[in-house]
Amino acid sequence: MRIEVDFGLCEANAICVGINSEVFDLSDDDELTVLQPEVTPDNEADVRDAVRQCPRQAIAIVD
Ligand code: SF4
Repeated sequence: MRIEVDFGLCEANAICVGINSEVFDLSDDDELTVLQPEVTPDNEADVRDAVRQCPRQAIAIVD
């Protein structure tokens, strides 16, 4: 499984970064980057939290 972000929906409010900054990163010019696109046993709980808490529903987990 891997993380997919719809950058057209993302409003760069960094909620996902607050949940896991090793997976999600926001640059100084408000560009979101997925540092770890693979969903792993270590990050899965955080990634699922980010999917739930993203106010724009911009994050998805795809096979
Ligand atoms: S929580 Fe959603 S809207 Fe906010 S930065 Fe992350 S992907 Fe973008």
